[in-house]
Amino acid sequence: MQPFELVTVTSVPDAVKAQSGSPTAQQGATVRFIAGGTNLVDYMKLNVETPRQLVDINGLGLDKVEPEPGGGLRIGALARNSDVAHHELVKAQYSVLSQAILSGASTQLRNMATTAGNLLQKTRCVYYRDVAYGCNKRQPGSGCSAIDGHNRTLAILGVSDHCIANNPSDQNVALMALEAVIHVTGAKGERTIPIGQFYLLPGETPQRETVLEPGDLITHVTIPALPEGTKSLYLKLRDRASYEFALASAAVAVKQNGPHIEFARVALGGVGAVPWRSHEAERVLHGKAANAANFRAAADAALKGAKPQSQNGFKVELAKRCLTYALAQAAAHKESAHA
Ligand code: SF4
Repeated sequence: MQPFELVTVTSVPDAVKAQSGSPTAQQGATVRFIAGGTNLVDYMKLNVETPRQLVDINGLGLDKVEPEPGGGLRIGALARNSDVAHHELVKAQYSVLSQAILSGASTQLRNMATTAGNLLQKTRCVYYRDVAYGCNKRQPGSGCSAIDGHNRTLAILGVSDHCIANNPSDQNVALMALEAVIHVTGAKGERTIPIGQFYLLPGETPQRETVLEPGDLITHVTIPALPEGTKSLYLKLRDRASYEFALASAAVAVKQNGPHIEFARVALGGVGAVPWRSHEAERVLHGKAANAANFRAAADAALKGAKPQSQNGFKVELAKRCLTYALAQAAAHKESAHA
């Protein structure tokens, strides 16, 4: 690990000012915000991240989870993953988010990790984590070692010839299905970014993962209310039962009107270069009968554009079955679909 300076800030303007002169995280930031540190410190130990200065933002007080006046939920950027997952409002109204968070990492990590940190969680591609290998995301122009290497766990949707890494987060898949809005304060003031516009596909610039600019500080996330009667859940499939990343996961929210689906949101994890919202699957489901054939048709639509690599072709069928089962469980009003 390279030496670094640690400074503490106690106001949002001071935090923004401290980071404004630095390139963004994805452009080799020299100044980084740190809160829980569960991801960043890992990568500093591996010399993947080499900031010269860390700005400790834990004193900013952005850790509340509270209802929005007009409905919906507001989650502070520094709210710990455990606090969000166990919050009564989240469990009651956004169970998909509670389940997604609790399916990830370990209790100790969830107690430290924050909402905003999780939004910016880095890929687990083994070549990204090892500076001995070429990796376009870590070092633009150095090649992608995964395309002809170990790619079993990597993405099949949204990939490019420059990067096939997947987004490893569970939280972000649920937030995608919930149409969360990310609130940012930056050098030019405050702005909001719908989560569907927050992540960037790798294209030719996989090092740039989000639309954040230098100095941008995520302050909180808001989630609109779901239609009354909506059932939501998260299903995660992985190599072992705990402390493991998803090979495929599904976050679904479904509301039925009699036997028909009136409202559906679908997002996939473990398979996308970004947390993967599937409007295609939602279109298939809308107005249709809630039955196995239509759930499978939605899954087929969601994976239609899949581009598997040499070792991860199994993910296409795995993700389809994951989504089909998650939709069936939600339609059956099951509380959870843990597998
Ligand atoms: Fe790097 Fe992406 Fe290729 Fe992995 S898949 S080696 S992160 S460029």
